[in-house]
Amino acid sequence: MIVASEIQMSFADKSPLAIQPLIAANPKEIYQRRAERLAELAKDSPLADYLALCRLVVSTQQTLCDTEMGPAPEINTAAAMPLQGIQVNGYWIAQLQLLLSELLDTASSNVVQVIRQLMRQTPEQLQQWGSSLVQGKFSQVPAEYRLFLWAALSVYWSHWAPAVISRMDVSQVKQQPMCPVCGSHPVASVVVDKPREGLRYLHCSLCETEWHFVRAHCSSCNQAQEMSLWSFEKHQAPIRIESCDDCHGYTKMLFMNLDPRMDAVADDLASMGLDAKLSDEGFHATTVNPFVLADEMTI
Ligand SMILES: [Zn+2]
Ligand SMILES: [Zn+2]
Repeated sequence: MIVASEIQMSFADKSPLAIQPLIAANPKEIYQRRAERLAELAKDSPLADYLALCRLVVSTQQTLCDTEMGPAPEINTAAAMPLQGIQVNGYWIAQLQLLLSELLDTASSNVVQVIRQLMRQTPEQLQQWGSSLVQGKFSQVPAEYRLFLWAALSVYWSHWAPAVISRMDVSQVKQQPMCPVCGSHPVASVVVDKPREGLRYLHCSLCETEWHFVRAHCSSCNQAQEMSLWSFEKHQAPIRIESCDDCHGYTKMLFMNLDPRMDAVADDLASMGLDAKLSDEGFHATTVNPFVLADEMTI
């Protein structure tokens, strides 16, 4: 085990048209854009109250980016997903307590009740729940606490992920369904036009990294023969869904050229009506949204 800061820098292909296998997040910018987008999506939405709570959480995450994150975590450079193997240390709990304190002043009374209950939990209990969440064992954590715990974990993970990426040999990163940095599920796909037209990236639900994944390939089982692209509302809709007739999984595709204001987490959440349509057709999501951490049995 060595700390991230001791790992040698890698030298990836620097040509302007080269596809970046990994795009490191700038958490502060992401949270700012996400908060703005959630405020916009809340207008006239049946989910307005919940989107408003999510915006409060995201705005608080943004302020936490400037706080102390402790020493760099120990990582195993031999691991395929270096941040997956790290122990859930105590530093994220400090983020959680700050997050909860901030929300006490701004959240509605029923949310404040949940926050007060969560603040009374022991560090050992919080550690246990944090470990369960990063391992995808969502059902082991009370549903009403998942959003807040995940938000704090995500601040911690997204802070360290760029440092780890800068020291990874990105040429060795293969197309894979889970985040190559932390091993978590994607939230959704984003389709971008730079440096080439129509590149698809999966956006990590925990560390906010994006990783390249060829389009028209199932991001869950990787087959490419029986894929369908669903478009609702209109022909060139900014959000479409790619489904797989083999494993019956699906992922949302956000076409950023059609609406650059979109954000993977916010727009996935605000378009939950599309999930209901795909569910009616017999498909299941292969993605996880930090604001809807359903039991793992249902994903
Ligand atoms: Zn990740
Ligand atoms: Zn599939």
